[in-house]
Amino acid sequence: MTADLVIHGGTVVTDTTTFAASVAIKDGRVLAVGAREAMPEAAEQLDATGLHVLPGAIDVHVHFREPGYTHKEDFGTGTAAAAFGGVTTVFDMPNVIPATGTAEALAAKHRLASEKAYVDYGLYGLLGEDTIAHVPDLVAGGVIGFKLYMGNTFGNIPSPTTGGMLEAFEVVAPTGKRVSLHAETASIMARREARLRAAGRKDPLAHLAARPAVVAVEAVARAAILSEWTGCRIHVLHISSAEELRPLAEAKARGVDITGETCPQYLLLGAEDYGRIGPVIRVNPPVREARNQAPLWAALASGVVDMIATDHAPHIPDEKVRDDIFTVDCGFPGVETQMPLMLTEVAAGRMSISDYVRWSAVNPAKCWGLYPRKGHLQPGADADIAIVDLARRWTIDDAKLQSRAKITPWHGRGVTGLPVHTLVRGRFVMKDRALVESARGTGRSVHTIQEMPAPRVANPDSTMTEIVRIPAASRGDAATGAAA
Ligand SMILES: [Zn+2]
Repeated sequence: MTADLVIHGGTVVTDTTTFAASVAIKDGRVLAVGAREAMPEAAEQLDATGLHVLPGAIDVHVHFREPGYTHKEDFGTGTAAAAFGGVTTVFDMPNVIPATGTAEALAAKHRLASEKAYVDYGLYGLLGEDTIAHVPDLVAGGVIGFKLYMGNTFGNIPSPTTGGMLEAFEVVAPTGKRVSLHAETASIMARREARLRAAGRKDPLAHLAARPAVVAVEAVARAAILSEWTGCRIHVLHISSAEELRPLAEAKARGVDITGETCPQYLLLGAEDYGRIGPVIRVNPPVREARNQAPLWAALASGVVDMIATDHAPHIPDEKVRDDIFTVDCGFPGVETQMPLMLTEVAAGRMSISDYVRWSAVNPAKCWGLYPRKGHLQPGADADIAIVDLARRWTIDDAKLQSRAKITPWHGRGVTGLPVHTLVRGRFVMKDRALVESARGTGRSVHTIQEMPAPRVANPDSTMTEIVRIPAASRGDAATGAAA
């Protein structure tokens, strides 16, 4: 058999080890990993001498803003940024116009993404009180999961009441889909912010003051109770504080199927950076006091926090630089800088490259049932690959980012580690730091392929008595539709 491509000379990285090996690719999948002389003939060869060969990162939290806010980003620019960042699968959020809360809106978004995307993607459906009735249609239409906003965010999506949340979880639980939570309690933040504004506060740190960690602690604890009661799988987005880790760890210990992510901004920035960075730093939840960083790193190491995501949330400079912090749009791009920022911490000895692969690829794939088709590079897996130079030192320059929103808190930061080539299902989408324009439209919608154990259900009298699996390949164009 002739392979389509063989990557020679690199160091292959798994979540437990690294080893020198060649990687052969055929029909979009990994065909073989091993000694150079054991590789089949290949139509194309790539010399990766001195480079590391990683499973592409899976970023379960991005906002590519299409449709509705394409002056900030679209599926073309957002997935190009992913390709430059070594990210081969993204899960896109539903707070666009119209919100992704109906079958029609979802179908329209699938069309837009499939035409433009350079990397694979999952689309979240919006789960709010108004969209509970649409859950079956959204599942049939191929959502990767649901997003529920417990706190206010960009797009003014209303937060459901606790009663609405319980009902939403009851409806989603039998589908087996995971609900990703913006876990900040809206009513606490609204009162704090009103008091700060009344007192004349407009400075960047007023944003942090309006959202003390209790907003997240209360939200995570409440969501965990409802998850346990209904058997609905949940995921805590953008964990920012040490205090949230306790309700998360306690729920995990009780057997609740709850997963969590944190983001580079919470691991690497602190309250002292507000002065230096200014209003660009505004993000929900806020960057917190530096004392939170070490517990977040420790939670990744122990598995209490499962993964790294970015909350890539682009806005243009006009929307990020304003005198009154409460009028600044929340969030900033991150999908392109996540891997270099984290590889810099690998270079500094904070964690191993295998730890990074576990948090960026293996765990996200497992938590959403994409493993073993994605998340690693064993034969049979999708050939989603980031080939990186761990020694390359460079400086992040907002003007050179692929994202349409050329403004981040990372501008001017020195990093060590650079994705040099990115492949999605065996196809180069970024090669030698250049976008492969002909790969536009390469990205495909991903779907759950692996059944996961049923979560614990605290309420034995629930009318929901079993977790019903969503059949694989619910959409014909599914990149990962067939069972591996
Ligand atoms: Zn977000």
